[in-house]
Amino acid sequence: MASLIEEKNNDDLEVEEVDVDETDEESEIDQESDQEEEEDGAKAKVKSETTPLPKKESIHICPSCQQAYLKKNWVADPLVEYYTIRREWAYCKKCLKTYPGYFVGCIQILDRDLKDRKKDLARILKNVEYQLQPRLEFEKVLQEVEKEEIYLIFANTTRLAMEIIKAIREEWGGQTQYEWIDKNRFLRVTWIAKREDRNYFTPRQKAIRERGIGRFSFEFK
Ligand SMILES: [Zn+2]
Repeated sequence: MASLIEEKNNDDLEVEEVDVDETDEESEIDQESDQEEEEDGAKAKVKSETTPLPKKESIHICPSCQQAYLKKNWVADPLVEYYTIRREWAYCKKCLKTYPGYFVGCIQILDRDLKDRKKDLARILKNVEYQLQPRLEFEKVLQEVEKEEIYLIFANTTRLAMEIIKAIREEWGGQTQYEWIDKNRFLRVTWIAKREDRNYFTPRQKAIRERGIGRFSFEFK
C-alpha cells in the first residue's frame, strides 16, 4: 500500500470535474451497447463463444491488493486480467480491516438546512443499499461524519455513491459535481442544495480538506 500512497499526492491528481447528471461510466455503458448493436450477428456470436463472461459483466477489484471478487470470495485470479470487460472497484474485506478509513466513493453534502433533513437522509441511504441489484456484501456505506457543517458519506463502491446521489437529487433537487479520480477508480461527489450557498461552503470545504477529512488513501503523502 505504501507505494500507492507515494505514487500520488495532491498536486498530480487527475481530477475531472463535470457538472452533469450522467457519469463517464454511464456514457461508457451507452457507447458499449451502441457498438454491440452495430456489430453484425456473426461477429457478435464469435465474440460470445470466446468470452467466458457475459459482455457486460463487471468484476470488482480491490484497489489495494488487486484481488477480485468472484463467487462471493476475494481471490487472486490472473484470468480476470484477460477476460473482464468492465472493472469496478471496492476494497476487499481484508484491506478494509487493515486500513480502516479507506473508501472508494465520497459524498459531500453541502446544505444549510441539513439538520432538518437528517432523518430523511438516513431513510434514503437505507433504501438505496436495500434496492441495489445484485446485492453485494461489501457494497455498503462505511462511515458518515459531519465536519464544518459538511456531511460526508463514505461508500465502498462508486456505484453505491452514484446511486445515493441519484436518490438525493430525485428527492431534493440541488446540484451535483462529480470528480472521477485515478482512471475512474475513485469518485468524489459534492452535492449542494442551493447554488448561492457555494461561497458559504468554500472555506468549510477547504478546512476539511486541510484536516485530511474525505481524502482518499492515495491522497496522503
Ligand atoms: Zn484488498
